[in-house]
Amino acid sequence: MAAHRAPLTNHHPDHSVCTPDHKHTSSGKPLHPDCPGRSYSQAVCTCGSWEFKGSAKGYVNESRKRHLATHTPPAPKVPVVLRARLRLDLP
Ligand SMILES: [Zn+2]
Ligand SMILES: [Zn+2]
Repeated sequence: MAAHRAPLTNHHPDHSVCTPDHKHTSSGKPLHPDCPGRSYSQAVCTCGSWEFKGSAKGYVNESRKRHLATHTPPAPKVPVVLRARLRLDLP
């Protein structure tokens, strides 16, 4: 089963990516000379039908996890007996 991923990226006001090497102070001030500052965070899921944008990174991350959880339905329980039989059927 292919697991979906929804990587979180940070963006500048002009929509370019604020890369991980753009460090910020704890108050959010950019320390990198080329960094105009983080404007918003975005997460796009590999399923292609979900994306989320927001100024609060924590909230985007939370929404992202909530969405990813919808891709992982509880694993179907295969009875042990059946599993043993499937193994015997293998060439
Ligand atoms: Zn930046
Ligand atoms: Zn998805």
